[in-house]
Amino acid sequence: MRDIMIVGAGQSGLHLALGLLRHGYDVTVVSNRTPEDIAGGRVMSSQAMFGTALTHERALGLDFWGDACPPIEGIGFTVPAPDGGRAIDWASRLRAPARSVDQRIKMPAWLAEVERLGGKLVFHEATPADLETYAARYDLVLVAAGKGAVASLFRRDPRRSPYDTPQRALALTYVNGLAPRPEYPAVCFNLVPGVGEYFVFPALTVTGPCEIMVFEGVPGGPMDCWADVRTPEEHLARSRWILETFLPWEAERCAAVELTDELGVLTGRFSPTVRRPVATLPSGASVLGVADVVVLNDPITGQGSNNAAKCAASYLESILDRGARPYDAEWMERTFERYWADASHATAWTNALLAPPPPHVLDLLGAAGELPEVASRFVNGFDDPRDFAAWFMDPDRAGAYLASLGR
Ligand SMILES: Cc1cc2nc3c(=O)[nH]c(=O)nc-3n(C[C@H](O)[C@H](O)[C@H](O)COP(=O)(O)OP(=O)(O)OC[C@H]3O[C@@H](n4cnc5c(N)ncnc54)[C@H](O)[C@@H]3O)c2cc1C
Repeated sequence: MRDIMIVGAGQSGLHLALGLLRHGYDVTVVSNRTPEDIAGGRVMSSQAMFGTALTHERALGLDFWGDACPPIEGIGFTVPAPDGGRAIDWASRLRAPARSVDQRIKMPAWLAEVERLGGKLVFHEATPADLETYAARYDLVLVAAGKGAVASLFRRDPRRSPYDTPQRALALTYVNGLAPRPEYPAVCFNLVPGVGEYFVFPALTVTGPCEIMVFEGVPGGPMDCWADVRTPEEHLARSRWILETFLPWEAERCAAVELTDELGVLTGRFSPTVRRPVATLPSGASVLGVADVVVLNDPITGQGSNNAAKCAASYLESILDRGARPYDAEWMERTFERYWADASHATAWTNALLAPPPPHVLDLLGAAGELPEVASRFVNGFDDPRDFAAWFMDPDRAGAYLASLGR
């Protein structure tokens, strides 16, 4: 059977490895972290995943946490008013629940599943020189190393990357004791114009059910405030300060919060980047990039893990379709373009939300408070962002859509 090497044991690499194993391929996964490193390490994401991505996982029997992980049944959207109240405030249900399983739980379990299905695991930080060795030895080398340094072998694609600097200062705070939303469990998404975004939702972490707070501060603004934070306790205190200062209704929910664990906090920033999908090694051999290596979006719309699952599902189809023919550079380009036909919508929408909202977006988000159909369409677009092109991304289409609803 064909022999495939996957560099990186994250959301996309393990999903793809497990899909290939189920179809009888020989698979080797190289990971720079052992299961113990991952389980005992720092949180890396808030990893909320919507219906389509979860369906891809379920199709491979990979949903081990369907009962244990609290469901996210909708998304609420709030914009504060200058007087301290709420200028926009609405919520709508998702057609299928979303879920967030801490990668510290998920990836060690999936690594064990790779071994159980006969895959080989190598614990090693793969270098560019290693990629040469792998390309000579394996039929196909897939680089699913996320934001790892090895991704820089893939050239940035300026046509598809409108930003060349980080657009948000990011922070995560995993907590217990946050007061639940009274109506139904949902992502509470708050947009503070010029300052940033804050969203919070239920998840499953190493200590059990929790809530994950995500902060997206505009660089240089008051929510870009993590540089002097030294300890997990200071991180929690700064999280509270942001909410007390800008989002008092969210601060009220946090009277009793405490960290889930000392490593349930993260800060960082990165430039959203789309890269060329194929890297050519000095020998002339080609390797194919997967998920974040080639399409790295800001987490403001929570699309990265979803895209990673969609990328794994799409690449799996392309590999199966290829049969016994060679995985040459041309096939790699086509394989990526098949995925990009979907991912381009998530990227365009995510990049649009990083910019100050244009008038037609403010109209739509305001109208959603009175028109449940608009709210539902926006909320369910998180699962399938392809829909946004038809009504959200363009002022004329937005106007026509609102007119069709009698506005
Ligand atoms: C703050 C934050 C919040 C987020 N929230 C969400 C969200 O709510 N919803 C969502 O869908 N997405 C979210 N994301 C994005 C999501 O986590 C990523 O897009 C997703 O994990 C990407 O999957 P991947 O397989 O490409 O990479 P990863 O999951 O990052 O996996 C890459 C793996 O490769 C390993 N590796 C790296 N270099 C090497 C090497 N040289 N050799 C061997 N192994 C290597 C890494 O250790 C890692 O295990 C968030 C991201 C951040 C930063």
